[in-house]
Amino acid sequence: MAGVYIHIPFCKSFCSYCDFYSITDNSLKEALVQALIREASLRASYLEGEPAETIYIGGGTPSLLDPDVTESLLLAVRENFRAVDNPEITVEVNPDDISEGYFGSLKQMGVNRISFGLQSWNDKRLRYLGRRHDAVQSARALDLAFREGFENVSVDLIFGVPGMTVADLKSDLEKTFAYPVTHLSAYHLTVEEGTKFGRMKKQGKLTETDEETSVSMFALLGNVCREQGFIHYEISNFAKEGFISRHNSSYWKQVPYIGLGPSAHSFDRRSRQWNVSDVKKYIKAIGSGEIPARREELDRRTVFNEYVMTSLRTMWGIDLQHVEEHYDKELHDYLVNLSGRYIRYGLMKRKRNTLILTDQGKMISDNIMRELLTDL
Ligand code: SF4
Repeated sequence: MAGVYIHIPFCKSFCSYCDFYSITDNSLKEALVQALIREASLRASYLEGEPAETIYIGGGTPSLLDPDVTESLLLAVRENFRAVDNPEITVEVNPDDISEGYFGSLKQMGVNRISFGLQSWNDKRLRYLGRRHDAVQSARALDLAFREGFENVSVDLIFGVPGMTVADLKSDLEKTFAYPVTHLSAYHLTVEEGTKFGRMKKQGKLTETDEETSVSMFALLGNVCREQGFIHYEISNFAKEGFISRHNSSYWKQVPYIGLGPSAHSFDRRSRQWNVSDVKKYIKAIGSGEIPARREELDRRTVFNEYVMTSLRTMWGIDLQHVEEHYDKELHDYLVNLSGRYIRYGLMKRKRNTLILTDQGKMISDNIMRELLTDL
């Protein structure tokens, strides 16, 4: 199985925290779409016949595209890559872009999953984050999606924003769960260099949330989602039974994927490629039949370390049998030995032949993952 990702690198403006590659000049939209369609044909053999189980249109802001343009991208994917019978097809949307009829069009072309970039229900916080929508637009957009019959609906929230309290997060969660959403991605704010928040931090105008508050927020998040019947299947992701994101899970399970578009990454288990993060250069290169990508061959140690880091983030954990079969006994024993003290401290548990983080372990997951990395 494999996944296909299409990156739409356009935004109306930049959010204060975001370091994804996108541009605000929409004049290249048409040329970019043609280039994406061409890249799909140039890369048609990349997945070596493995069927695509998931197609994900992300960004940037995919909802800036007219539905017929989105449909032409999906057609290009279907023409160039074999898909399973019922692929998961996700489109990321921003609430301020949605017109009447938008979701109906997506449904007709086979889109079966919507991911809403809501981030918060508090208008003041939305403005601080540099978002362009408000809570009224979020409510309207969600209503339109459910009215159209979408069941697989995900909401993105951000917590740990400076000034935000645990009660604020509780309120955001309550307002989200007032809708029949089936998936939640909740990310703690990280202040990245090169963003508006990064510059504010350097100038001493932004103080990050203290650790105690962050830990309380993470605990609240887990508890509320559990009460709502959601499965905590990855550090930042929660889903109702049957609605775990197949696309995101494939990244964590090291399933091959292909990324089309500027800055998109591809992975075929042996190497990783990443396209140039420049819309103009991308369009020009694809126009002359070249894929503007850099490539890194992945050695055994790198693939193993990536496996440890990604699988430990999930409820499935590290599969020790997989390690022994796909790597070797030495790495298997290395993990078993090292995990011993985390198990004693209650940060990790061994369930059958897997190593899984406990709720306490999830709070310091980055530290644990760093210590498990090896240069064996
Ligand atoms: S968060 Fe989304 S909408 Fe905001 S700048 Fe980044 S990609 Fe664009």
